[in-house]
Amino acid sequence: MMESAQQTVARVSQELKCSPTSRRVAEHLDKQDELRHLRQEFLIPKISELSTSDLSLVDGAEDCVYLAGNSLGLQPKNTKKYIDEELEKWAKMGVHGHLKGSRPWVWAEENLEEQMAKIVGAKPEEVALMNGLTVNLHLLMLSFYKPTPKRYKILLEEKAFPSDHYAIESQIRLRELDVADSMLIIKPRQGEDTIRTEDIVSLIEREGDAIALVMLSGVQYYTGQLFDMEAITKAGHAKGCLVGFDCAHAVGNAELRFHDWNVDFACWCSYKYVNSGAGGLAGAYIHEKHAHSIKPALTGWWGHNLKTRFLMNNEMDLQPGVNGFRLSNQPILLVCPLQASLEIFNQTSMKDLRKKSLLLTGYLEYLIRHYYTKDPSDPDKPSVRIITPSDPEQRGCQLSLCFSCPIRAVFEELEKRGVACDMREPDVLRVAPVPLYNSFADVHRFIAALGSALSASGAKQ
Ligand SMILES: *Cc1c(COP(=O)(O)O)cnc(C)c1O
Repeated sequence: MMESAQQTVARVSQELKCSPTSRRVAEHLDKQDELRHLRQEFLIPKISELSTSDLSLVDGAEDCVYLAGNSLGLQPKNTKKYIDEELEKWAKMGVHGHLKGSRPWVWAEENLEEQMAKIVGAKPEEVALMNGLTVNLHLLMLSFYKPTPKRYKILLEEKAFPSDHYAIESQIRLRELDVADSMLIIKPRQGEDTIRTEDIVSLIEREGDAIALVMLSGVQYYTGQLFDMEAITKAGHAKGCLVGFDCAHAVGNAELRFHDWNVDFACWCSYKYVNSGAGGLAGAYIHEKHAHSIKPALTGWWGHNLKTRFLMNNEMDLQPGVNGFRLSNQPILLVCPLQASLEIFNQTSMKDLRKKSLLLTGYLEYLIRHYYTKDPSDPDKPSVRIITPSDPEQRGCQLSLCFSCPIRAVFEELEKRGVACDMREPDVLRVAPVPLYNSFADVHRFIAALGSALSASGAKQ
């Protein structure tokens, strides 16, 4: 059995003869962290730039405490260099840049697909990098959602990300079906925050004959719950449903095995845990078993076989699988930041990142529980309920913290102290220590800043 994060904290504090909440524990864990050098590959915003006031209360430290990688990953240092290279190439050679240089624009993203495929557990030919996430979700559903009079429903989560909800709704409308009847929405049990796998599986078993598509997220953006994609896919297939996942919050966060899990299709964005910058190039995956049976509903010249694409004879020679879904030539300026980020992922593995992630998030969980468990003898003290599952197998790096007090003023005080995280009113903070660039010291500084922000905001139960 691997030592739990809590056991690690207890052991280290004993070895150091200090309190488990001491900053020395964080320093020690950072020293032991074999991935700590990866932080150097990123530009970390400075407190003075982030903070809404120039008051910096966090120990004079310069780097902000960046715990918002679930929303927008940090910039890899090579991003600017690669973009500059392409701008210069464009300036110097114009149209010849399509075929020349280290990144010929015509197939610039091709070697990135191999690296991306490793991150999602797929074969390179099962992955395409293109468009934005919602666009890819639509393109995939156009082909994978084939309702019949008996089998026409799409299974989704109650609080799916708005874009996914709208995309599903409009796909149903496009088929001229009844929206309310065709959206099969699963929600947590009364009094619970997250959806049990057993409930998803039993719903599929009960209603599967009417479900055309199971379309869930890999990691739920709000609760941070990591779904058991393998079990859900298996349950869906047993009832003849197709199964797809939106992995916006799972890619680069959890270990994924799309191919082995037999997932039919998936899509994701690359600006969250994959650090490609706002609006970066998104990803799409289609299992190879569908390579010749599922065709794109909409086609463009980039879906054409590269060898004959530029003969321009208007006879489509469609690439098999997900590559046939490509429409347009690649935005090279978006390829550059993605390359910079994937090269950093390439210095490690999702297995090692995940190993660090379990300890890093476990450490955050330990400190939150230590300081903010509800104390009946002190009813005025703010407390925190962690919405995210406590089982590390059922979450990625993010913890969603539900406070007993309104959170806006606290959030503003946190910003003043150089903390970047995400607020969902009225009472939730989403905090994501990212193993690629966050340190244990970041987590410790967050806890210190939170204590001071709660006092400064006068937060009460
Ligand atoms: C971030 C996110 C999106 C955003 O979609 P874009 O098309 O990139 O704007 C959509 N769905 C989920 C689940 C997300 O987490």
